Amino acid sequence: MEIFKEFTFEAAHKLPHVPTGHKCGRLHGHSFQIAIHISGEVDPHTGWIRDFAELKAVFKPIYDQLDHHYLNDIPGLENPTSEVIAKWIWQQLKPQLPELCQITIRETCTSGCIYRGE
Ligand SMILES: [Zn+2]
Repeated sequence: MEIFKEFTFEAAHKLPHVPTGHKCGRLHGHSFQIAIHISGEVDPHTGWIRDFAELKAVFKPIYDQLDHHYLNDIPGLENPTSEVIAKWIWQQLKPQLPELCQITIRETCTSGCIYRGE
């Protein structure tokens, strides 16, 4: 069984390694959408894998670092592509959330990435 919780955060970034003139090299912002997926056995008593509120609480300190921030200033996010952000979130979440199995990030309605660990 797998459950997920979705979050949205607003943030600015620019991508330092794109070719000169590429639009992503200019400062801009996104409403990033994130889905945190966990998988595991359903507890026969509670009927769930884990309380969604716990998922939210575990993600909160990470969310607070991202929301309404300039991502390039955050250690580890100097080149804040969706792929780099997904891995950065995974590395912080996994120790606290061993059931973590997938992180999905959308930076626009049509573009995003899925990360399932190393
Ligand atoms: Zn962008």
